[in-house]
Amino acid sequence: MHSLLLRSELLARAGFTHGFSTRWASVTGVEGSFPSDADHLRGFFGALGRDPASAMRVKQVHGAAVLTDPLADWQGEGDAIAFREPHAQVTPVIRTADCVPILLGNPFGGQVAAVHAGWRGVERNIVSEAVRALHVAPEWLVAAIGPCLCTACFEVGEEVVTALMPVTGDGIVDRAFGPKPHVNLRLAVRLQLRKMGLPNAAIEDVAGCTRCEPERFFSYRRDGANAGRQMAVIVPRT
Ligand SMILES: [Zn+2]
Repeated sequence: MHSLLLRSELLARAGFTHGFSTRWASVTGVEGSFPSDADHLRGFFGALGRDPASAMRVKQVHGAAVLTDPLADWQGEGDAIAFREPHAQVTPVIRTADCVPILLGNPFGGQVAAVHAGWRGVERNIVSEAVRALHVAPEWLVAAIGPCLCTACFEVGEEVVTALMPVTGDGIVDRAFGPKPHVNLRLAVRLQLRKMGLPNAAIEDVAGCTRCEPERFFSYRRDGANAGRQMAVIVPRT
């Protein structure tokens, strides 16, 4: 039995409805056809127990904007959604196919954020912007970092290393794979969260590499622009 979604133990223990979808959430019915977003949404939200019509799907632009208003920002432009209070009819959705999905929750107050971070998102420190937008002490938060490219799969040009170095330091760069540098994006996000004040033990890796594991995940690098997208969701708690 293939699981349609992956959960974080920390967020589950804190009582949050949440998940990172796998490619099995898409039920295309046609062999070799490209999975549609609507199809994936139906499967994933069915497994989550949420109404697909409640999905707040924003336009992700590799920027640093955090969207906080379910009405004004319903189809807004931004790479993080942060909710300080519950909105019964709205489910924040982040879509990824190699970039890093991050889910944040405050176990004590119920506030949540869903974040999309590629290397440009790391450069702009979108995950820290999302933490700030929650207006809670960062040391209260728990975070889950979802399936994304592993270090072996994320070969980059020197310009990416140059851009990230001032933000994260060189601990995320690995030059052992070959002539070109590789970057550990998952670790970069963890370092940014720790710098904001989250305890290391409050940050969980929900394992998986989108490119290494075609049986579980869609990957832009492996499958090209027509690849499907995974979704990451977390619902604010009352
Ligand atoms: Zn990989």
